Amino acid sequence: MLSDETLNPYAIVRGQVKQACDALKLDASAYEILKQPVRILEVAIPVTMDDGTVRTFTGYRSQHNDALGPTKGGIRFHPDVNLDEVRALSMWMTIKCSLLGLPFGGGKGGVICNPKELSEAELEQISRGFIRGVSAIVGPEKDVPAPDVYTNPQIMAWMMDEYSRMQRSNAFALITGKPVELGGSLGRGEATGRGCVVTIQAAMKKLGMKPAGARAAVQGFGNAGTVAARLLHELGCKVIAVSDSRGGIQAAGGLDIPAVIAHKNRTGSVAGFPGSQPISNADLLTMDCDVLVPAALENQITAENADRIRAKIVAEAANGPTTPAAQEILFKKGVFDLPDVLANAGGVTVSYFEWVQNLYNFYWTEAEVNQRMQEMMERAFEAVYALKEQHKTTMRQAAYIYAVKRVADAMRLRGWLRRPAAAKPGRAAAD
Ligand code: NAD
Repeated sequence: MLSDETLNPYAIVRGQVKQACDALKLDASAYEILKQPVRILEVAIPVTMDDGTVRTFTGYRSQHNDALGPTKGGIRFHPDVNLDEVRALSMWMTIKCSLLGLPFGGGKGGVICNPKELSEAELEQISRGFIRGVSAIVGPEKDVPAPDVYTNPQIMAWMMDEYSRMQRSNAFALITGKPVELGGSLGRGEATGRGCVVTIQAAMKKLGMKPAGARAAVQGFGNAGTVAARLLHELGCKVIAVSDSRGGIQAAGGLDIPAVIAHKNRTGSVAGFPGSQPISNADLLTMDCDVLVPAALENQITAENADRIRAKIVAEAANGPTTPAAQEILFKKGVFDLPDVLANAGGVTVSYFEWVQNLYNFYWTEAEVNQRMQEMMERAFEAVYALKEQHKTTMRQAAYIYAVKRVADAMRLRGWLRRPAAAKPGRAAAD
């Protein structure tokens, strides 16, 4: 890391949004509203631990901007959760939802805890306690949570159940990423990784590359990373390295990804997969490969290692894996960037489908879900690519320009932005 490089995700996303406001020459009132979340709630969650002691966990819910609709975004359970991270993630959600044309603003939540050290009963109490704590500000028409790092469909089910008990009626549309038995959408579990691969294929087409034989490395082997690795493998890519929090594995000829998944399910980690060699998470990033998929946490590609990245395409399944300084270095090196707000937007897109299905009580087939998601991801990719070409910039900046414009237009029409002194309201056309 360069000494002056900030790794604070909140400072990073504010800079990204400011840059887009400037590029669009928006009135200063737009950034004035967008520079911080409109609402943040901090809650204390008391939990009776299995040993009988009571421990209090801290949780946050941040709602960044609701100009386009109810806020939407996941809940993260992780020891490193902090207010700036949650605020930043909620701003990224505003950008992501806008970019995909969804009728949502951005929100995000988090609880400071380590699920790996908690029993199921303790985890259930945290989940129920969190949603009780934020119940006044969430709801199908207000703010719709979803899973994120170390949260899963079971946790969504507990939260939906707790909220439904408080409302005295079933509220499936409160939260997405639920089990299919409780109104979850088919295809939601795979959506983030699948959407990421849709964008990788679109980028490959632009670069004249073919998936078959292309070499990919995937950092993070959770929900997003596992699916991305498996689908790349199915397309004929050689997935030459994958990793998780306990370390990584590599095989120059390509890993048998279904077998790696089975190994991880059995042992809890990809490490020690027979026939592979170990590789550190840091070394995985700088491997000689065609496609690099960071699918773990923030700030993995920084000014310190960006110059050593050898991939042609960096597809950000994770949120915020590349710092702005690193992005500049990658751009100068000619790396094709697939920014988080585009590359991992398949998750929130299918979350939107889940919410729609819950509200209508009418459920789609998995093929319908995948097809609609693919169409929306491809449309967003093409819109961003056209702007990138027009502005001779990165895919990331193009994505921000596109997304911020949509939010700013909504805010202007709602009357939130400063009006030019001489402006008069226009007349609506007669029907
Ligand atoms: P997950 O909890 O399912 O998986 C996280 C993975 O990262 C695990 O394999 C874990 O071992 C690994 N990991 C943790 N720390 C690591 C480290 N230091 N180095 C390497 N690997 C590490 O989480 P997920 O849902 O797959 O989320 C991963 C990323 O994708 C996050 O940035 C998240 O915000 C983003 N994301 C997820 C979704 C979704 O729908 N799940 C949607 C959009 C974005």
